[in-house]
Amino acid sequence: MHHLKDSFKHKGMRKRLVEALKNKGIRDEKVLEAIGLVPRHYFFPKDFWDNAYDDKAFPIGSGQTISQPYTVACQTQLLNIQPGDVILEIGTGSGYQAAILAQLGATVFTIERIEALFKSTSQLFSKLKVPIHCFLGDGTIGLPSKGPFDGIVVTAGGNSLAEQLKVQLKPGGKLVVPMGDRSIQKMVLIKKVVENKYERTEHGEFKFVPLLGKYGWET
Ligand code: SAM
Repeated sequence: MHHLKDSFKHKGMRKRLVEALKNKGIRDEKVLEAIGLVPRHYFFPKDFWDNAYDDKAFPIGSGQTISQPYTVACQTQLLNIQPGDVILEIGTGSGYQAAILAQLGATVFTIERIEALFKSTSQLFSKLKVPIHCFLGDGTIGLPSKGPFDGIVVTAGGNSLAEQLKVQLKPGGKLVVPMGDRSIQKMVLIKKVVENKYERTEHGEFKFVPLLGKYGWET
């Protein structure tokens, strides 16, 4: 693991990223503040640190990507995190989205199916001393043993209705899941109003790597 250092240069680049996200329509001040505070370059290979503040997805190895900051901002905004919320993330990847959730005061559980990413990101979290709980496995089945959750966020593109995840929400809880085909997905927000009653809304189109697993795409 490389030495982590947050320089003035990176702080300046982060400020410009926050401005760019505002210009693209991100309005939630707390989300913008969190993006302004979490050094995104820590979640990048060191050779590419200077790419970390472009509003772009970027390869992180194992054929996966760190999500675009705009996408992270949109998904986080939809969750409307309150300090103390218990959030499940499906698709740990680089760990950046989980770190944003933790910065907002959430207790975060995150699942990754690729062992190499699970290992490197768990190590990064211990180095950063962030209390994010990492699990290795198929996130499409959720994490019933740690639920129910105030929010569940899926950071890979799914294809099914996510019934098994809805039931792991608390009443008032929110599931944010990109759903569609392998090439394009709609951002779906499912709110559990009360037990057995849900509201579903759609929030724009995105392009994610596929969610693979029992309730996702076949590998
Ligand atoms: N949240 C990540 C970040 O901030 O870097 C996004 C990473 S990437 C867009 C999506 C991740 O979901 C990949 O690391 C991929 O391996 C993972 N993934 C795909 N299907 C999964 C599943 N069934 N369970 C857990 N993780 C899965």
